[in-house]
Amino acid sequence: MLCTFSLILVLTGLCRSALISKSHEGDDPLLQYVVNNSLREHPVLTKLRLRTMEDARNVMMVASEQAQLMANLAKLIEANKTIEIGLYTGYNALSLALVVPENGCVVACEINEDYVKIGKPFFAEAGVEDKIDIRLKPAVETLDELLSAGEAGTYDFVFIDADKKNYETYYEKSLQLVRKGGIVAIDNVLWGGRVINPAEDDLSSQAIDKLNKKLHKDERIDLSMLTVGDGLTLAIKR
Ligand code: CA
Repeated sequence: MLCTFSLILVLTGLCRSALISKSHEGDDPLLQYVVNNSLREHPVLTKLRLRTMEDARNVMMVASEQAQLMANLAKLIEANKTIEIGLYTGYNALSLALVVPENGCVVACEINEDYVKIGKPFFAEAGVEDKIDIRLKPAVETLDELLSAGEAGTYDFVFIDADKKNYETYYEKSLQLVRKGGIVAIDNVLWGGRVINPAEDDLSSQAIDKLNKKLHKDERIDLSMLTVGDGLTLAIKR
């Protein structure tokens, strides 16, 4: 009985965590504990995070604990060439740039120059500006350019975190660009819980839900969907 009750509490907590999702949003004490006892944030990342919190759209910033997870994954697979689809102010791109080797890169796709302007001085301050290759145009164009240049199968890690309606397109192109054993990480796959029962006019939720269901059956990848942040899917190319 007690076990059942505890299990319900744990599950309730997990559901809540999935909705109150990032350490810089809300004040979940357990999430704060996680950050206090595991975050190893580079000092320039701290500066960029604090600067980004001044921006009106800071909800788009990747949580520091999630960025650290992805940087660790990139290290684990010895990632050299990486892509970020949806740079925003570049917190996660900077985090990746700090772990790829000297000759490594982060191809950073963004359409809003104002966001890029916020991040750039911090890339320079951290000494990794040469690793961050900013492409200021729609991400689909950049991905097509990389494919046309013969770069299919040469990337190690891609992070998809842009407009949700194009998620499936981003995924398909990213999967072509990564090598066997490479990772396509997809952000916001829980979308604040709205994926459970997307409203008829909610095209973003529908697009994410559709992609989630497609990946579940996708034999080209190994798959994990994590409840970190707003939901993070890891698709590992077979
Ligand atoms: Ca996101």
